[in-house]
Amino acid sequence: MPPLLQVKNLSVATKNRLILQDLSLEIEEGETWGLVGSSGAGKSMLARSMAGLLPRGISVKNGHIFYRGTDWLKMKESDRRRIRGRGIGFLVQNTASGLDPVYTVEQQMVETLLANDCADSKEGAIDISADWLGKVGFNRVQRILSSYPHSLSGGMAQRVYLAIVFMLKPKLVIADEFSTGLDSTSEKEMLGLLFQVAKGSSLLMITHNILLLEGLTEKLAVMNGGVIVEAGPTERILENPLHGYSQALLQAGDPCGSIGARGLSTSESFCGCVFSKRCAHSQENCASQLPEVREVDGRKVRCHRY
Ligand code: SF4
Repeated sequence: MPPLLQVKNLSVATKNRLILQDLSLEIEEGETWGLVGSSGAGKSMLARSMAGLLPRGISVKNGHIFYRGTDWLKMKESDRRRIRGRGIGFLVQNTASGLDPVYTVEQQMVETLLANDCADSKEGAIDISADWLGKVGFNRVQRILSSYPHSLSGGMAQRVYLAIVFMLKPKLVIADEFSTGLDSTSEKEMLGLLFQVAKGSSLLMITHNILLLEGLTEKLAVMNGGVIVEAGPTERILENPLHGYSQALLQAGDPCGSIGARGLSTSESFCGCVFSKRCAHSQENCASQLPEVREVDGRKVRCHRY
């Protein structure tokens, strides 16, 4: 059985600048992954590549993305659109922007359910919508159903969007900085809710805060400078990070800013390890040669030391 989603040697670039290089990641059915890195690391670009939603002017230069063994990048956009929703759901930070201001919550939920063949009738779709609004913590469900997005607070709109994404029972949900911007109590509540409703789906949770992932995800990928520098079981990486950047992220906690900004890049290849200027273990070839991925202590790591 092929993985649910497989990213294989993926490189993404603008016309003259490389953004991601040689990324590989496999997400199995039901697996939870964290993707962590500082701002500008390339996390969102990877997420957008996975969802087939790269901005104009940015394209896949090399590599493949397979959805259940089928080449996602070679699919027609109409087929990809069909898979988004019931196959791959996407949660972003500013979810209010995903709600249409001219329709009520009920109209949007019913339309989404019917368009994705998740309900047989309008009445059935209303029942499913009400049920999901209850699951994401609303008590006065009828009131929310008849509301327009502008009358909802940011937190309420986020919960409505959570219900819309998960009521389609997607195979994989990519949550890109979904809880960022909330105060720490609301953030914990929102993450608890996310993991509660995500049961049965695979989840890729993207964050700049590595400490948030402790006890939440089974696997973790650490990213910076457009490459995955370390990936494997979350506990193992948190207990004993091998890459210099992973170590710095854990020491700095949140936020880490743009640790070790890369000095050189061309349209063909990144030059050297992103952390070479800050790493205590830096060696001669670290600044000039991108390390290969190696299997070390049950995880994959890109570091010349191994
Ligand atoms: S490749 Fe070199 S600079 Fe990068 S983490 Fe390893 S030792 Fe440090």
